[in-house]
Amino acid sequence: MINLSQYSAIFIANWKLNGNFTFLKEYYDKLKVSSNNCTVICPPSIYLKSIKTNKENLYTGAQDVSFYNAGAYTGELSASMLKENGIDFCLVGHSERRQYFRETNESIKIKCENLLRENMIPVVCIGETLEQKENKLTEEILFTQIKKSIPNIANNKNCIIAYEPVWAIGTGLTPTLDEINSVHELIKNFNSKFKNFKVLYGGSVKSTNSKDINSLKHVDGCLIGGASLKVDEFNTIIS
Ligand code: PEP
Repeated sequence: MINLSQYSAIFIANWKLNGNFTFLKEYYDKLKVSSNNCTVICPPSIYLKSIKTNKENLYTGAQDVSFYNAGAYTGELSASMLKENGIDFCLVGHSERRQYFRETNESIKIKCENLLRENMIPVVCIGETLEQKENKLTEEILFTQIKKSIPNIANNKNCIIAYEPVWAIGTGLTPTLDEINSVHELIKNFNSKFKNFKVLYGGSVKSTNSKDINSLKHVDGCLIGGASLKVDEFNTIIS
């Protein structure tokens, strides 16, 4: 398992349903990973094997994994299949999957367990909607998501949390820096087990705000969607 504690920051690119071979080649020719940071690229699964991870500190991650381990489940990819193909990280519970594919905290927990059993690192996405934020429910929502979707066997060495306010994803909106820092602090103080967890921020991170966000005391890196598709922009973010 990758030693997460060696990295001062972790940057994860979530390409979502984007990319093709030409894009991949140009991207990797230009990508400049930094020596102190961990960079993880999460392309659509069909491209996972086409990504060259021969650069140091550069890894691949899947965007999802099956709830099941084997059997008659058409279209699915299991944790052991991902592991066998050299994949080290996997996003779980991204808000788009919760929203469009009806993922629940309970199914996310099982996916995490499947990944942990294969010594892969789940990146568990949690976050509140705008309505929940406006109704001051952020803490309650996050604590429920943590309690129900992160299994007991997860710890700061084998699991990462990504705080992604749903209203900030792909919208150009972000919480204030103080809000980001205090929510990350809240997550780390959920109980003693989470104190040393790596907690990444995600939601409209760009080259113009990434430095300020990453300088926050309780932020350990970022999960980047839209801006990770522009390699020059992504290079600036991870530099
Ligand atoms: C995401 O998809 O996880 C994300 C954070 O997207 P964006 O950076 O585009 O807001």
